[in-house]
Amino acid sequence: MNRTALRWVELAAMVFFSASAWAQAPSPQRPAPGRSFAQWDKIQISVTAKLAPNLYILQGSPDFDTNHPDAAGGRIAVLFGPDGILMVDAQDVELHEKVLQTIRTFSAAPIRILVNSHIHSDHTGGDPFFAGQGALIFSRGELREEMLHPPRRADGAPSTEPDPAGVPVVTYPLGAPGAPAVTIHMDGEVVDFIPVVASHTGGDTVIRFQHANAIYIGDFYRNFGFPFADQANGGSIRGMITAIDLIGQIAASDTTLITGHGTMVKKDELLPYRAMLVDILAKTKQLVDQGKSLNDVLAANLTAPYDATTKGDTPESKTRFITEVYEEVRRK
Ligand SMILES: [Zn+2]
Repeated sequence: MNRTALRWVELAAMVFFSASAWAQAPSPQRPAPGRSFAQWDKIQISVTAKLAPNLYILQGSPDFDTNHPDAAGGRIAVLFGPDGILMVDAQDVELHEKVLQTIRTFSAAPIRILVNSHIHSDHTGGDPFFAGQGALIFSRGELREEMLHPPRRADGAPSTEPDPAGVPVVTYPLGAPGAPAVTIHMDGEVVDFIPVVASHTGGDTVIRFQHANAIYIGDFYRNFGFPFADQANGGSIRGMITAIDLIGQIAASDTTLITGHGTMVKKDELLPYRAMLVDILAKTKQLVDQGKSLNDVLAANLTAPYDATTKGDTPESKTRFITEVYEEVRRK
C-alpha cells in the first residue's frame, strides 16, 4: 500500500471510530519498513563500556525498542581526545541529540569523523545531525549507493527517503581481503576501516582500533536473535561465513569484538555461530535439492538444535533467517 492509500485507510478508520474508541486503538503511527517501533522518549544513551581511556561504547536503554529489546538501536564507538572525535555509527535519527549529550559528558572535542559500519537506520539515522556537527562521513561506496537508491518496496515506492545531509562524503571500495581501505591517525590511536564482503549488507566495514585492541564488527554476527543478511541491500548468508573467517585472521584471541547488538565477544565466540550457518546452509540445500518449497523448509524447523542457546530467539527472527538461507541456496 502506498502512502496516499495508507492515509485514506487511516482517514476512513477515523470516520468509523468514535473519538474514544480511536483513543484506545493502536497508534496510527507506523515505523517505516525495517524500522523499530520504539518508545524513543524513554530511551537513554549511556556509556556501557570503556575499552581504552579514549575509546568508549555508547548504547540505548533496554526494553523500549521492539527490534532491539536488549539495548535500543545500534552500538556507537567514540574515540576522543585532543585531535577531536571519531565515531563509529550514529544510532537512530530519534536519538541523535541524546547521543551528543552523552558524548559531551566526557569530551568537549569537535566531532571530526563518522564512519558507518553498514546502512541500517539504527546505525546511520544520526548521520545528517552529526554531519551538521562537523563530521566528515566515511563509508563503503556500496553503502552510499544503498543510501541514495534505497530498495523498492513491493508497491514500487522507495523504502526510505535519503537525507542528502547525511550521505557519506568519503567512500572506498572492497579491496583485498583484510586490507585497510582507510587508516586514520588521531588521539594517539590508529584506526583502520577494513571492508568486508557482502554479509549483513552489501556495504559492511569493520573498524579496527589498533592500540585499544578492539574491532567494531557490526551486525554480520549477532548473539541476540538469529542471523540477518539483508538481501534487499546486498547481504549474504554465505558472506557472513567469509566475514567471520576474516575476523579470525585480523583479530587476536584477546581482541574485543564490538558487535552492533547483543554482547561484545572474542573471536572464538564466533565459531559456534559459524558452525550453525554452515549446518543450516547444508540442511537447507539438501531439502531444496529434494524439491522442497520454502514452507517445507520452514516446517522442518532446522533451527531447533539452536533455539535453546539463541538469546532473543523469536519466530520472526527464525523465519527471516531460514527464508534468507532458502533464497540464497535456491539462487545457486
Ligand atoms: Zn544492521
